[in-house]
Amino acid sequence: MIRFQSLTRNIEIGANCYLLSLGDKRILIDSGMHPKAESKDALPQFDRILNEPLDAAILSHAHLDHSGSLPVIQRHYPEMPVFMSEATDALAQALLHNSVNVMTSKGEELGINEYPLFTHREIHKVNRQWHPRRNGKKFELHETGGASCTFYDAGHVMGAVGSLFEFSGKKIMYTGDVHFEDQSILKGADFPREKIDVLILECTRGGTALDPEYSRWSEAERLALSMEECLEGKGSVMIPLFAMGRTQETIMMLYELQRAKKLRNSSFLIGGLSIKMTKIYDKFSKRIRRNHQGLNLMRVKGLLSTPRSRGELPKLEQGNVYTLSSGMMAEKTMSNRLAQQFIANPRNLVACVGYADPDSPMARLIESERGEEVLLDSKKEPVKRQCSVQSFDFSGHASRESLIEYAESVHPKKVILVHGDKEAIEWMKQRLNQRLPETEVIIPDPGKEIDLE
Ligand SMILES: [Zn+2]
Ligand SMILES: [Zn+2]
Repeated sequence: MIRFQSLTRNIEIGANCYLLSLGDKRILIDSGMHPKAESKDALPQFDRILNEPLDAAILSHAHLDHSGSLPVIQRHYPEMPVFMSEATDALAQALLHNSVNVMTSKGEELGINEYPLFTHREIHKVNRQWHPRRNGKKFELHETGGASCTFYDAGHVMGAVGSLFEFSGKKIMYTGDVHFEDQSILKGADFPREKIDVLILECTRGGTALDPEYSRWSEAERLALSMEECLEGKGSVMIPLFAMGRTQETIMMLYELQRAKKLRNSSFLIGGLSIKMTKIYDKFSKRIRRNHQGLNLMRVKGLLSTPRSRGELPKLEQGNVYTLSSGMMAEKTMSNRLAQQFIANPRNLVACVGYADPDSPMARLIESERGEEVLLDSKKEPVKRQCSVQSFDFSGHASRESLIEYAESVHPKKVILVHGDKEAIEWMKQRLNQRLPETEVIIPDPGKEIDLE
């Protein structure tokens, strides 16, 4: 008996969490927190599973939409082992501790009594049940045996893995978030290409067609050209970045552009959580499969850590490159606070290199015209945007074409589509039906159990 149950609340990229039942073993796959919902609404549908034991959990990678509620579920199952890669262990701890701080200040500000949903001390406690596992090495999910798992590099952020479950001769592959091409630091996914029975496939970019002319390096050159133009005109550049993953990849990319003489040497300013995450990337620089083996980002020429005291903004100076979090310019974060002055200067450039949620200040900035007022912080006056704003595509997720290609190569009997909005998932379903007519393509109803054999 193999069963699957999505514990997300909607068909969306929210609090990713799934239950995989392999015979009498119940395995939790990821335990995320919704990036836009608050309090209990940000949790997966845990109430559907709490009345029965869980035997193990696996964590695909550290992003909070996969890891953010792990301490909450572990509170209910204190003995349950949680398997992940060693790098995910380090990164998820740092992100969860930061999440406690964010929840605490939100709790005070918005009057949400449940916040924080867990404490620093609880993270230390649940961490004892985290068990790092190496990629490519099969391990048992439970001491009584019968169900095993093997991790494979997913190329998405450091430590991200796809998980191949094996149970009674059947193979079930969960991609997690995946990227098949090389990034500046990470190499593309190294997934098994053998025959798989059930493929649980992420669909983030299912709604986005890939420009056939696109290449990561030509996009990097386009960014360098815009930056050069701005710096030549005595402006400064701001690149709002997620603290983990996008920050490190972007700094490495700027370093590569400088080495290729496409970009002048200038100071990159990073701060706060980004420094912490970059140091963890550096710690693993020789231990993981990647490009620029051993190169430490904190030692890259021009990289400056900004704040001397917590929350202090870096000085706005001409010719600098501000690689600050958060990526969507969320209120109160460094990129948002600096933007209050930054966007008023017509010489400056804001370069968007990651995903911006339509409700985010970053998206409002992208949508705005030069000279238009933009609301960056709901408690402050809008700011007139005079600077240049440009978007670049450096996604950490696989193109929909490469996801389909992967599905074709493992020829599964069933595909379960997850981690995408409705439009993205529908496109994937249609295309898979065309390409793999014998495969059953399933869009799981949130909460509903699905029998897979
Ligand atoms: Zn992710
Ligand atoms: Zn995700």
